[in-house]
Amino acid sequence: GGSGATQSDLQKARMRLSLQEHLLDFYQNNVNIPTEEQAVARRAALDICAELRVFLHAKLPDMPLREMYLSGSLYDELQVVTADHAQLMVPLILEKNLWSSIPGEDTIMNVPGFWLIRRENLEYFPRNSSYWDRCMVGGYLSPKSVLEVFDKLVAGSINWPAIGSVLDYIIRPVVPSETLTLEVQYDTERRLYVDFLPLLVMEDGTSLIAKPHRLVAERHENLWRQSFRVAETARLRALDQEDGGCRCACLKLAKAMCKLNPALNRLNASQLTNCILLLCEKEGDWTKDALADRFLQLLRALVGHLEAGRLPCALSPKVNLFCELTEQEVDELGYTLYCALSDPAGLLRT
Ligand code: GDP
Repeated sequence: GGSGATQSDLQKARMRLSLQEHLLDFYQNNVNIPTEEQAVARRAALDICAELRVFLHAKLPDMPLREMYLSGSLYDELQVVTADHAQLMVPLILEKNLWSSIPGEDTIMNVPGFWLIRRENLEYFPRNSSYWDRCMVGGYLSPKSVLEVFDKLVAGSINWPAIGSVLDYIIRPVVPSETLTLEVQYDTERRLYVDFLPLLVMEDGTSLIAKPHRLVAERHENLWRQSFRVAETARLRALDQEDGGCRCACLKLAKAMCKLNPALNRLNASQLTNCILLLCEKEGDWTKDALADRFLQLLRALVGHLEAGRLPCALSPKVNLFCELTEQEVDELGYTLYCALSDPAGLLRT
């Protein structure tokens, strides 16, 4: 103290200031989506959702579903760059006495964050006592088989060209598709991708989605993925609301960075959100002026987690959010981000 700022301190301060300006600029011009564009995309998704509800009620009145609803970043003000995707959540109703859930860590696969849904009481309630028995594989409810049921319906028996012409969209199922996805062209240049996401909500509120484990091995096929999205997004938002913080802005900048750089495509919103939530446990200053500092810190934290090969979920630390990345992907992501530490603005060009 007392000797004043050194040359290098000044230089660092200048760099931070320019990164701060660069981030704000990038946010305005590339990250943020115009309100009008978001509204049109939401409208298109809602129209499709309404059509599907009518169709399913008419065609399969006895399929035990709760009302479908739309969700995702488009509905949380967290979508970035272009308003181009949403999820259509399809909650299945399971009979409590016929199905039980087994956490992944208690199975031979030993994967926290994934679950098996086992059929119970087959001796008293034989096959077909439950509607969803048709999706039972080896005694377990198969998310793959559930997706196939919807795939047959949505891709096979709905007349999308006819519906599309009524709604003035071009609608087509995306093939091939890991999850079941509809492409909706609602303008000559604008497309919206709507993912069908079958979902189970357990008694304690745990949500499981029919989104397969990425490193598909046969024995992983029956695993349901636990979703933390609602809780982790709510926590991030609540923290920002308490102190007028920039956590959501920081998340959106990071999401845009990953969306616009092919080398970072593998990082998803959940990983970035949780990395920020973990950072929040150590770092209190999320004022707007600290945006550049926090953004750099986020990059550094990601590099650290990648080096360790492990990113614990902030809401359930036993879950490793990097568990579906291959070693090579981890290395490549780590390398790209490590190089970016000396020139973070380089990743924020379009
Ligand atoms: P973005 O797609 O990067 O903008 O991120 P979102 O926050 O919208 O997350 C969407 C992704 O999370 C999709 O890949 C979904 O399959 C997955 N996901 C997991 N759980 C949920 C959930 O509860 N709701 C939605 N909408 N998506 C979920």
